Amino acid sequence: MIIVAITGPTPEDARRQLRLSSRYAQMVEFRLDRIADSPVGDLIRGCRKPWIATCRPVREGGTYAGDERGRLDRLCDAAKAGAAFVDIELDAIRDFRALLTSHHVRTRLIVSRHCFDQQPPDIPRTYRALRAVRADVVKLSFMADDAWQLSLVRMFLQLARKDKQHAIALAMGTAGEASRVLYKMLGGWATYAAPEEGEPSAPGQVPARILHTIYHAHERTRRTKVFGLVGNPVGQSKGVYIHNPLYRSAGFDGVYVRFPVVDTARFMKDVSPMVSGCSVTLPHKQEMVRYCASCSPEAAAIGAVNTLVHRRTGWHGANTDAKGALVAIERRMKVAGKKLVIVGAGGAARAIAAEAKHRGASVVIVNRSDTHARTLAGELGVGWAPLLELHDLNPEILINATPVGMWPDIQNTPVDAIPPTVRLVFDAIYNPSMTRFLTMGRDRGLVVITGVEMYAQQAVEQIRLLTGIRVSAAQVRRRFEIASAALAPGTGKVRT
Ligand code: NAP
Repeated sequence: MIIVAITGPTPEDARRQLRLSSRYAQMVEFRLDRIADSPVGDLIRGCRKPWIATCRPVREGGTYAGDERGRLDRLCDAAKAGAAFVDIELDAIRDFRALLTSHHVRTRLIVSRHCFDQQPPDIPRTYRALRAVRADVVKLSFMADDAWQLSLVRMFLQLARKDKQHAIALAMGTAGEASRVLYKMLGGWATYAAPEEGEPSAPGQVPARILHTIYHAHERTRRTKVFGLVGNPVGQSKGVYIHNPLYRSAGFDGVYVRFPVVDTARFMKDVSPMVSGCSVTLPHKQEMVRYCASCSPEAAAIGAVNTLVHRRTGWHGANTDAKGALVAIERRMKVAGKKLVIVGAGGAARAIAAEAKHRGASVVIVNRSDTHARTLAGELGVGWAPLLELHDLNPEILINATPVGMWPDIQNTPVDAIPPTVRLVFDAIYNPSMTRFLTMGRDRGLVVITGVEMYAQQAVEQIRLLTGIRVSAAQVRRRFEIASAALAPGTGKVRT
C-alpha cells in the first residue's frame, strides 16, 4: 500500500495535505514530530483512512527534540485515539510497550530503524534485531548513495518473506527512489509518499500523486517488467513521465524508474538481474558497451549505447540517439552528399557524426577543444577543423551537439554567427526546445530542427526495443510537453 506522510508544519497544512492526498493512499501517517503541537484528535478529524502515528526523534532523522517521556505519551494518546499502527523506533520499543501496558492500551506496532551513516547497514544483523522484538511490521530506512543499493532493500525483504514477517524497506535519497516505486514487486508491505502541498518526510520520497498516477506503484506485481534510466545525474530526466504513461496506454505491464548509478559494475551485478531493459545516459554511454554480449551495428560503429535490452544471450546494446537525430533531420532534408558540420565532440556528436557519415554526409567536427575534435574524427573517419574556421567550411547543415544554450544559460550560443551557406540548423538540446542558436537560424528563414524532435524519434525506437510497443513521435512529443508543463523549469521538481 501507499502510505502518505502528512508533515504539516501547521495543523491547517496537515488537514489540507490530508484532504488533497488521501485519494492517492491506502493509509496515512501523521508525523507528529513535524506538525506543530496540536491534539491528535483534531488532526485526525475527517481522516477516512487507517492512520499511523509517528513522532520521530532527532536521533533517527526526525524533528522531535523534546524529552522521551513526552514523546511516548503523545504516541500513547494517538493509540488511544484509534491509530491503526504506531511507528516506534527499535531503541524505544521496550519503554513504549511498558507504557501501553500501564495504560491498558493495545495497538499494532511498526518497529523501525533509520540509518543515515555513510556506509549502508548490515542487512542481516539489522533485520534480526528488528525481527527479535516481534512487532507487527519491521521497517528499515537507510540513506543510499548509489542505485545498486536497491539490492540491499531486496535482501531485507527476502529475509522477511522467509519468516512471513510484514516488512518495509526503503532506501532514502534520490539514489533510493526505485525502492519506493518497486516496493511491492520486491515484497514490501508498504511504501511512503510525500503529501500534496507539503514537504517529504524523508529524502527522496516521491509525491503520492506521482507514485499513484505515474508509477501505479500499488498495482505492480512480480510479473511487472522493470525498466529504468541509468546515468548520473538523472534527476532532471523527463523519461519517467514519458515511458510510464505510454506503457500504460498500450496496456503493457512495465514500470520505468530512475537509477542514479555511480558504480556500473555493482549495478550490473546486483540490480540488472531484476531489470528487463535500460536507457543509458551520461556518463555511462561508452562504458556500458563492455557489459553487452551483442550490439547493434550503429552502437558498434559509435562505440556507445543509450539502450540496453535483456536477451536470452545477455545484454544487447543499441544506440537510438544516432537514428533519432538523423530521422529528425532527414524528414526535412536528406544529408547524402551535403557538408554537415557538428559543433561538439561528446557523446551526442559521436552518435550523430557516425550515423550522418553512414547516410552519406560529408561530416566535419568542430569543437572547443581541438584535441577532442581530432580524436573523435580519427575514430569515426570523418573530418575535423578548429572552431574558428567554421565559416570557411561552407556547411549546409549546422548542428549544435554541446550543452551551450541549455537551461539556465539560455542566452548562450555555441557559435557567434551562422555561416551564410547553412540551410538547416539542428540543436540536440531539448531544454529549452527553441534555443538561441535555433532562433538565429529561424530569423534567417532556415529549416529548424529541435532537440525535442530528436528525443521523440529516439524514444520511439527505444520504446520499441525495450518493450515491443509501437508509439508515434507525436505521442512522445505530447508526453514530453505534458511533463515539461508539470515540472518547474530545469529543477526536476513537480509543481502541479
Ligand atoms: P558531452 O558528452 O558532455 O559533450 C559535450 C561537448 O560539448 C564536448 O565536446 C564539450 O567540449 C562541449 N562543450 C561543453 N561545454 C562547452 C562550452 N561551455 N563551450 C563550448 N563547448 C562546450 O555531452 P553530450 O552527451 O554530447 O550532450 C550534448 C548535448 O546534447 C546536451 O545538451 C544533451 O542534453 C544533448 N542531447 C540531446 C539528446 C536528444 O535526444 N535530444 C540526446 C543526447 C544528448 P570539450 O570537448 O571541449 O569539453
